Amino acid sequence: MAIPIPSRQLFIDGEWREPVKKNRIPIINPATEQIIGDIPAATAEDVEIAVEAAQKAFSRNGGRDWSSATGAYRAKYLRAIAAKITERKAVLAKLEAIDCGKPLEEAAWDIDDVAGCFEYNADLAEALDSKQNVPISLPTETFKSRVLREPIGVVGLITPWNYPMLMATWKVAPALAAGCTAILKPSELASVTCLELAEVCKEVGLPPGVLNILTGLGPEAGAPLASHPHVDKIAFTGSSATGSKIMTAAAQVLKPVTLELGGKSPIVVFEDFDLDKAAEWVLFGCFWTNGQICSATSRLLVHESIAAELLDRLVKWCKNIKISDPLEEGCRLGPVVSGGQYNKIMNFISTAKSEGATILSGGAHPQHLKKGFYIEPTIITDVTTSMQIWREEVFGPVLCVKTFSTEDEAIELANDTHYGLGAAVLSEDLRRCERMTKAFQAGIVWVNCSQPCFCQAPWGGKKRSGFGRELGEWGLDTYLHVKQVTQYVSDEPW
Ligand code: NAD
Repeated sequence: MAIPIPSRQLFIDGEWREPVKKNRIPIINPATEQIIGDIPAATAEDVEIAVEAAQKAFSRNGGRDWSSATGAYRAKYLRAIAAKITERKAVLAKLEAIDCGKPLEEAAWDIDDVAGCFEYNADLAEALDSKQNVPISLPTETFKSRVLREPIGVVGLITPWNYPMLMATWKVAPALAAGCTAILKPSELASVTCLELAEVCKEVGLPPGVLNILTGLGPEAGAPLASHPHVDKIAFTGSSATGSKIMTAAAQVLKPVTLELGGKSPIVVFEDFDLDKAAEWVLFGCFWTNGQICSATSRLLVHESIAAELLDRLVKWCKNIKISDPLEEGCRLGPVVSGGQYNKIMNFISTAKSEGATILSGGAHPQHLKKGFYIEPTIITDVTTSMQIWREEVFGPVLCVKTFSTEDEAIELANDTHYGLGAAVLSEDLRRCERMTKAFQAGIVWVNCSQPCFCQAPWGGKKRSGFGRELGEWGLDTYLHVKQVTQYVSDEPW
């Protein structure tokens, strides 16, 4: 059953605050196309106020501030946030499912991951205390060197709509663990759970200004954050096109950026792998979260000798899954996030048809649903490497398929993309898997699976999928500044 969407304001300096220009953005339920609430629309004026609050919280003169507190002190807040999120899991999962259209069961996994990520970063914050003043061995006794790891400062975190609360957490949790203070700008298409995160922070008494949450449009709220001279770093997840704009803006004031961008990841299935298991991983890898996953293995490369049998299984599954309102029990595929995304994906499918590809399954709005931005799971064959459907990220429930005959050909096809986020290989031959792992031009490789993600393991891409890493210790490191301290310790005059 649907639940009411809480009406919220911007979260600045520990308080709810109306945007200076008082504008709001409607929330549209993608399953019904109805307006179900609205979110505040921040502009440059609000960014200014939030940056000031974050600066104050970072280093208050004389007081105990967030940046110089111990990691153990910060960890207490992160654990309290994790506990509150777990307490509210049912409500948060429903809000997520309603707001962005993902099946409720999947939204519930996301909320578990959110709590887990805060917990894990609490551990990292505590461990950071013992990683200060690490001595460096020098080839002389005249000097002593050591290293301090300090928070970078005020950070701007800009996130997308496909995992609204989880993508925000991947940035907020390590940023706060490191001692940074932050301004989060979630996607205007799905901000509801990020505003609930603000409520959680208020309830656990997170010191004012440590986390500020500004909802709003990209050019109006995200751009001023990216170019702000007192925002010391930008961490961005979103499309490659926006990533390029963020990097340009950050370059004007020479601030570091980390970019988690789009993908067009391959899954390579060899003839020795069990066909039922292969079908499961291919489907999960492409259609989970309604196909809106940056790392979706949306290009299937299958050995020619098993292609017909595998496709047969995939088509049967696509025709039998439950496509419904994400809150309905057993829903396996919900609507895509917005009318804009719906049209974009449909255009990809019609361009593929006009370029000569075959729509083997799906490709349309499901007939049993009158309203909502639903698209049937779609499988496209007879694809050539020059087609748009092969080259560009669709970000929807669309799988394109090619066959190969040799391992070399599989590698060449797998790497035939500007992107380099994920890649998967399915084969019983582990030596072959190892060769493929080394040959893939990707930041993440899955062997005999696709998509599992753990907050302990580094996440990020190469090529046009971005740079920098999130998650694990690598994620924390991107919010830390390494300071070298070298001391002259000899009694001899220099
Ligand atoms: P998007 O680029 O349209 O928007 C992302 C965020 O940037 C939003 O908050 C948006 O408001 C903001 N934004 C837009 N224009 C801006 C500007 N000029 N300046 C500053 N901020 C601006 O992306 P999206 O449609 O929200 O998300 C989908 C994309 O995200 C896909 O390409 C997907 O692959 C990618 N993604 C990548 C990862 C990853 O880990 N690599 C994870 C999830 C999503």
